[in-house]
Amino acid sequence: MFDKVLIANRGEIALRIQRACKELGISTVAVHSTADADAMHVRLADESVCIGPPPASESYLNIPRLLAACEITGADAVHPGYGFLSENARFAEILEEHNITFIGPTSEHIRTMGDKIQAKETAKSLGIPVVPGSDGGVKNEAEAMKVAKAMGFPVLVKAAAGGGGRGMKVAHRPEDLGNALSTARAEAKAAFGDDAVYIEKYLTKPRHIEIQVFGDGQGNAVHLGERDCSLQRRHQKVWEEAPSPALNAASRANIGEIVADAMRKLKYRGAGTIEFLFEDGEFYFIEMNTRLQVEHPVTEAITGIDLVLEQLRVASGAQLTLKQSDITFSGHAIECRINAENARTFRPSPGKITYWHPPGGLGVRVDSGVYQGYSIPPYYDSLIGKLIVHGKTRNECLMRLKRALGEFVIDGIETTIPLFNELIRQPDIANGLYDIHWLEKFLGKTP
Ligand code: ADP
Repeated sequence: MFDKVLIANRGEIALRIQRACKELGISTVAVHSTADADAMHVRLADESVCIGPPPASESYLNIPRLLAACEITGADAVHPGYGFLSENARFAEILEEHNITFIGPTSEHIRTMGDKIQAKETAKSLGIPVVPGSDGGVKNEAEAMKVAKAMGFPVLVKAAAGGGGRGMKVAHRPEDLGNALSTARAEAKAAFGDDAVYIEKYLTKPRHIEIQVFGDGQGNAVHLGERDCSLQRRHQKVWEEAPSPALNAASRANIGEIVADAMRKLKYRGAGTIEFLFEDGEFYFIEMNTRLQVEHPVTEAITGIDLVLEQLRVASGAQLTLKQSDITFSGHAIECRINAENARTFRPSPGKITYWHPPGGLGVRVDSGVYQGYSIPPYYDSLIGKLIVHGKTRNECLMRLKRALGEFVIDGIETTIPLFNELIRQPDIANGLYDIHWLEKFLGKTP
């Protein structure tokens, strides 16, 4: 096992990783920008290193500075968390070249899955069902039109390098296609420096259901069930739950085994998520995330497995001790992403937290990186915490969530808590009847 792990991240996820390290007796190193000198992840780490000014490009995304921090502190491994450099193949490669373990998959797997066109081809070759679409990228409008007409409209133009919902445009009719192609290309070029795009059938009422997988890089892999992340705004997840209200044990075992088998063939190492759209009983692969996800705690709640602890174990070279038959699902869990944002306009609301009272009690977990008196800097993602609630049944979970939301007090800034207070009262949510468009429609029609 490692002696010292450097956590190349901030906020709640940096703390989450520290907790697992501490339980294993591993020393932790926090890195931070000057804007984060007072952050909780810095206060609770065994050591900390300031790696630069506030902009992420000069701190959390700056590879030479992170390497220097490893060098100074003698860290023998780096956990990247999510976002920032977590899916940067070059970063993983550079660390390995310096004999520092990257806690994640091989750089080759990160690279393959980071290109959505390659990822889709790989998934298909491993027996995973994919969304119908172009074979690889589309070069021009004529080629795109041919594919779109054969498949039927609506279609979705997607960036090969896409992420965070960017570089994605729907064409409802043939006359929209030219415009969708050029806007998606321009957006992708600006955001990712790569304007390659491809085409997919646009599913009109799917759910977003993803499967958590775990491998040891030695050919052993298991699945840990699904998470339903259909409640989204601008293709960004807002509420996640496990199990999905739309699956039963047989469909779960079926897709889970297809995915776990694919990971065994790939010799995948570490935690990964295979994202699907699910419509009319069919699964369609959209992408694979080669890292820990924001919403991993709902899986931890229903399986009792500490995913970060398992990541540390396999990264240090241990074989997977989990067998598929050991993994059982107990009860229901829901996560609400608490953002420092106005709950109606979603405008970021950084600033000082003057009062902070998180909820507690049986089945309630709050992962956050803030505290009373802390000032949220304006430079980073607005996620300040996650409320995760677990109950024996979905109903119990919903009742508990309502109670926990009622206890949560955050003053001084605006947060998305009022949105969850509304959602929890909607009959469709109570009945689990929602698809990926439900939330946008709800937000559009309420005052
Ligand atoms: P990103 O990497 O940018 O998050 P994804 O491929 O994971 O992009 O897609 C994000 C979201 O966009 C999905 O959860 C879904 O809501 C929507 N989406 C993606 N592909 C399709 C599709 N073919 N049809 C309908 N919606 C889609």
